[in-house]
Amino acid sequence: MALSFDPDATQLPKGHFIGGRYIDAKGGLPMRRPSDAVAYAECPVADADLVDQAVSTAKRALKESGWSTRRPRERTNAMHRWADLIEAEGETLARLEAVSSTRPISQLIQGDVAVTAEQIRFFAEFADKEGSDLVPTGDDSLGLIMTEPYGVVGAITPWNFPLSMAGWKLGPALAAGNAIVLKPSEMTPFSTLYVAELAVRAGIPAGLINIVLGDGRTTGTAITGHPDISKVSFTGSTAAGSAIMANIARTGVKPMTLELGGKSPQIVFADADLTLAANAIASSIVVNAGQACVAGSRIIVEKSTAESLALAILARMQTIKPGPTWDETSDYSPIISERQIDRIDAIVRAAIDAGAECLTGAKRLNRDGYFYAPTLLSHVRQDSPAVVEEIFGPVLTLQTFTDEEEALALADHPTYGLAAGLFTRDLSRAIRLTRRLQAGTVWINRYSRSRDHILPTGGYKQSGIGKDLGRAAYQANRKSKSVLINL
Ligand code: NAD
Repeated sequence: MALSFDPDATQLPKGHFIGGRYIDAKGGLPMRRPSDAVAYAECPVADADLVDQAVSTAKRALKESGWSTRRPRERTNAMHRWADLIEAEGETLARLEAVSSTRPISQLIQGDVAVTAEQIRFFAEFADKEGSDLVPTGDDSLGLIMTEPYGVVGAITPWNFPLSMAGWKLGPALAAGNAIVLKPSEMTPFSTLYVAELAVRAGIPAGLINIVLGDGRTTGTAITGHPDISKVSFTGSTAAGSAIMANIARTGVKPMTLELGGKSPQIVFADADLTLAANAIASSIVVNAGQACVAGSRIIVEKSTAESLALAILARMQTIKPGPTWDETSDYSPIISERQIDRIDAIVRAAIDAGAECLTGAKRLNRDGYFYAPTLLSHVRQDSPAVVEEIFGPVLTLQTFTDEEEALALADHPTYGLAAGLFTRDLSRAIRLTRRLQAGTVWINRYSRSRDHILPTGGYKQSGIGKDLGRAAYQANRKSKSVLINL
């Protein structure tokens, strides 16, 4: 199947998607394609009134459709039909995503689209299997913990994996019996709009999924502070997560799930399979040009093996094929925006000025769009900006250690605790260190999620509160009621 396409010929969905139809909107925030920097569209900004309209539509749809009270298997079946349609329309979805985002079309088809359909099926299956609990009480009573959906969930997603992130929010919320008002990133809204349209086409009642477009300040704030949004589920930066907490505190009290930033370490011992470690580490920073929350951007390697590891990573970094996201041969992503590529370069420069040695990269690629070379910096101190800041770009730092304690001390980040990687053939050491690593996910002798979806993901420290994926994500979309019956 030929996947390359002409971005100028791609029909983009127009406006917000509320109550099962597009609401046309003119003007908005200018959008540029990361692959060639061409201005191609504007993203409308929903104001508080439009957000209110989306929330009341969601409430009404929930009531009229009986989505949360009908037989749970009906929710499961409808969501399976939706997943089928996502697969059938995979190419259109992938094009809509590739136009605006940093995701290359081939990776979208094999990865993001396929994984989103899988995850919707995964969550659909909880609807009629995950129940309430009968709990031990005295003989004179019967105790139950019942669970119920929240009602209308407000979700906000980032630009780096737009479709997958929408799936992470929509799948569990819907399976758990809620309606949703979701705001995708103002830089990458199109695939999310289309996935919501596909839900309606698959028979999920109109109005259960509403997509409002806009920025964080106007639209995001209106969602998180709306009195009829009963739960907030957010993925994005720690700074925005903190602003959302403040807005929720100011406007009332409601539960929230926050999936935030990271600066994850990858610890490599001399006994590790070096080829495996080098490939895993390089891939984790080359995929999406390091624009991943879990990017393993800090290499912490046993001194005796640092040079061979660095050489193997450098070799892997040479194999990238940068190119527009709409070219099926491209496998290396652009950076999302001019602002972001400037920020990456500024942090790299500051690190070099502070004494880091550049082994490769540290420059823009000489081509259209916002491409930055894979970069490896060694001799960085623990307080180097390249070690402290979440760069969100293709930049690896390399630090060395001589014993486990030093490795753990270097791995510990003052702010973040999203993920960590560990490469060693010594199982006891792997377990010993895993117990002490301050991270919500630890990968041992690999550095990537699997497609099992059962393992929850979420951060320690300021990398977040609560979990996405796994049973935990389904449960986080239901509240519990304790019932005690006198016998
Ligand atoms: P961002 O925080 O700038 O924006 C994320 C979303 O939040 C966007 O839709 C934006 O419009 C909205 N937003 C911004 N300020 C807001 C506010 N005050 N109130 C409500 N909404 C607001 O993040 P980004 O640049 O789109 O994405 C990159 C960040 O996301 C990185 O920090 C990355 O680590 C993080 N991320 C985390 C995970 C995870 O699972 N932990 C996954 C992907 C991305």
